[in-house]
Amino acid sequence: MPSKAMVITFDDGHIGNYELLPIIKKLNIPVTIFLCASIIDTNRQFWFQYDELPMSAEKLKKKKNNERLKILRKAGFDKNHEYDSASALQRKHIEEMRPYVNFQAHAMYHPIFPNCDDEEVRTEIFGTKEALENKFGLEINAIAYPNGDYCERTIRLSKEAGYQCGLTVEYGFNDLESDLFILKRLGLDDSYDKNELIAKVSGLWDFIKTRNGRKQTVGKTEKVVS
Ligand SMILES: [Zn+2]
Repeated sequence: MPSKAMVITFDDGHIGNYELLPIIKKLNIPVTIFLCASIIDTNRQFWFQYDELPMSAEKLKKKKNNERLKILRKAGFDKNHEYDSASALQRKHIEEMRPYVNFQAHAMYHPIFPNCDDEEVRTEIFGTKEALENKFGLEINAIAYPNGDYCERTIRLSKEAGYQCGLTVEYGFNDLESDLFILKRLGLDDSYDKNELIAKVSGLWDFIKTRNGRKQTVGKTEKVVS
């Protein structure tokens, strides 16, 4: 592991990620994109981007999965409906990007894992790996939990499915002692300017938060996942 290693990650596999390819090539930086296996290469839509959500996506994320699906169906959202244009990366994008980008697993349809019943979450965790490997010929060893949400069952099933690590959205750095199935990341917002970006990835952000009472280890950084 090189000192201060960093991997840049993107969740979901939004179609706009394709536009990053020239800069990824130019900078030659390690990038991993976590894909939703049932949404890529289709014209299906991510549920949280549906125009007519009857309540905020944040509220829906807290509902039991079958309840969330029921509410969405009532509002006219069908997870298998094919729209006029694609929301996620298509096969041709993945093929063109794969020499430069590491593609890994996110989910099938992006439910919140701890809110799913046993069978649903098993299908999501196992099915994503299987689909990405069999349909797209990708080598899958990592999963980023949708919305960063996980529980003991998520980790157990991820291990059972053959993943080698799992990523959360908990803020922080990882070192050689980190639990491979609770890897932290430094979440960045599209709206950040350069200074905010530097404050976050340097650990300064964390340092300030620690001073405000949140206990976090800063410093001995072996690996940064963002
Ligand atoms: Zn996501």
